[in-house]
Amino acid sequence: MNDDQRQQQMEQAEEILGDRLEQLDFAKALFFGRYAAAQLPPYPTFTADAERDRRLAEVRDYCQQKIDPVAIDRNARIPDEVIAGLGQLGVLGACLPKSCGGLEWSQTDYCRILEILGGHCGGTALFVNAHHSIGPRALVLFGTPEQQQKWLPKLASGEWISAFALTEPEAGSDAANVQTTATPTTDGKGFLLNGEKRWITNGGIAQVLTVMARTPSPDGGESKITAFLVTPDMEGFEVVEERMEKCGVRGTATSRLAFHEMFVPKENVLGRQGKGLRVALTVLDFGRTTFGASCTGAAKFCVAKAVEHANRRVQFQQTLGSFELVKEKLAYMQAGVYAMESCTYQTAALIDSGVGDFMLETAMLKVFSTEVLWRIINDTFQLYGGLAYFTDQPFERMMRDARINTIGEGANDVLRAFTALVGMRDVGMELEGVLKAAKKPLTNLVQLGQFAGRKLGSLLAGPTVVVRSEALENDAQQLSALLRLLGQNVERALATYQLEIVDRQHQLGRIADAATEIYVCACVINRLDALLRESQLDEKRRRFELQTARYYLRAANTRIRQGFKTMWDNHDEEANALANAMLQRGQSE
Ligand SMILES: Cc1cc2nc3c(=O)[nH]c(=O)nc-3n(C[C@H](O)[C@H](O)[C@H](O)COP(=O)(O)OP(=O)(O)OC[C@H]3O[C@@H](n4cnc5c(N)ncnc54)[C@H](O)[C@@H]3O)c2cc1C
Repeated sequence: MNDDQRQQQMEQAEEILGDRLEQLDFAKALFFGRYAAAQLPPYPTFTADAERDRRLAEVRDYCQQKIDPVAIDRNARIPDEVIAGLGQLGVLGACLPKSCGGLEWSQTDYCRILEILGGHCGGTALFVNAHHSIGPRALVLFGTPEQQQKWLPKLASGEWISAFALTEPEAGSDAANVQTTATPTTDGKGFLLNGEKRWITNGGIAQVLTVMARTPSPDGGESKITAFLVTPDMEGFEVVEERMEKCGVRGTATSRLAFHEMFVPKENVLGRQGKGLRVALTVLDFGRTTFGASCTGAAKFCVAKAVEHANRRVQFQQTLGSFELVKEKLAYMQAGVYAMESCTYQTAALIDSGVGDFMLETAMLKVFSTEVLWRIINDTFQLYGGLAYFTDQPFERMMRDARINTIGEGANDVLRAFTALVGMRDVGMELEGVLKAAKKPLTNLVQLGQFAGRKLGSLLAGPTVVVRSEALENDAQQLSALLRLLGQNVERALATYQLEIVDRQHQLGRIADAATEIYVCACVINRLDALLRESQLDEKRRRFELQTARYYLRAANTRIRQGFKTMWDNHDEEANALANAMLQRGQSE
């Protein structure tokens, strides 16, 4: 890619993300090496709330009594009664406004439902997430009052199921490459849709679908993507395949759809014409948060099972738990699940606090939680040995169910590159401004002075990481040191590669991984800060949480520092050369 192409790609991305890029949220500040304390709300403490706790208990009971994950997996279907039951419990409209029949729950409380479901049945959790997080949510955020009144009540009750149709054969990770077209009719009453969608969760069973299609630009420029509300009774709507046979989350209906000259009235445009990707990216932010919650539920289940087995199984006259290599796994699992949980609820609290933007935090949460869960399931599987390989244990099913997590709603590698580039964008702009200012130092004295002051400050000391509890001062200082390193490495990467950084994915991956773990560390410390001030908490539990959190912080510190070292001492070029040789051989064979 040359500089012009890179510039063009960046401009396209900027247009899609729009003013979301302008807001300096907590995660974006990390890339400057700053700790934006004011942007991080307190960790949610979950004080008792009779109504909410009753509903959560009902969901738990319902899972135990009515949702059979083994049968759902075997039959590749979530029974209609289960869907109806979830609707009656309020699960399918939990965050929707009360005026539309929803419970108007916060994102934080909704995550608790998804945690319960994720710990019980991966397929059911995905079904609920696909319906709620990315279906009606789009209507709440972007729908007109008429659209909301028309569609939301039945979606909230579960009478109608929704689906979100973006992916096509040529538009996977490259969501902007949607080929489905929506041509305005000559009478101006609507659009004719033509194209196909694949791998759409609930696609063949939904009564309402949000479909992304390409509309011509009114000024004759490049066509843009628009979101449409589609119903299966529209003439020209075809379910090519309702339930594609698949590896995991088998209870969900993953469908192929086609549209043939399908008329959609203009009243069904969701959001502004040409702003469909904005709709898609915004609702995916919510979906990614609940991904964190369902991963937390599944991970907690595994950790409990791993401990049980490590205490019970005896080999070489010892329990498995007495071997150090087993202890290493257990400690990783416990710390991982704690970190994942902290990041999930902190991110949900961030959304509930009404901050302007949270796309980086949700992307970081999604990547972190899906990868940690994958390792936790794998380690649990390993601990169970041959036992885990058989279908009378839940682990092979859980492994199949979890495999989609690092692919769906943004493949993790794509999200890592995205996180690094969006995070570094403002730092790059500041540096560019400084370089320009340096060419006319006298007229730009103020700008240069401000930059020099900040620079000097960051060289001498890291940012202040605010904690209320004295016991956490050491942890806060360690985080501050990591932030300083992040800021320095981001600047160095930008100065070294300039626009070429867009293609330097080895480095983008490292920067994203470091920033993500730093964000997770901040969530863990913020949670500890709330925990240590909690007077009601049982002392044993407090000590165990502190021990868990400290272990996570310690291990993360080592990983992050190692990542920074590797940025400047690595074998990236050799890896590229070998991969290129492989690709060339593959072409000529
Ligand atoms: C069970 C299931 C349910 C789904 N449900 C829905 C749904 O409800 N609605 C919907 O619209 N879609 C859905 N999808 C589609 C899903 O969102 C896509 O699979 C996902 O976006 C990735 O696209 P892809 O599979 O075409 O992978 P590709 O885009 O082909 O990417 C494959 C791999 O290539 C690598 N890669 C790609 N691009 C880059 C890059 N820029 N940099 C580095 N590496 C890269 C990554 O490792 C990636 O994992 C579902 C998929 C499945 C399997």
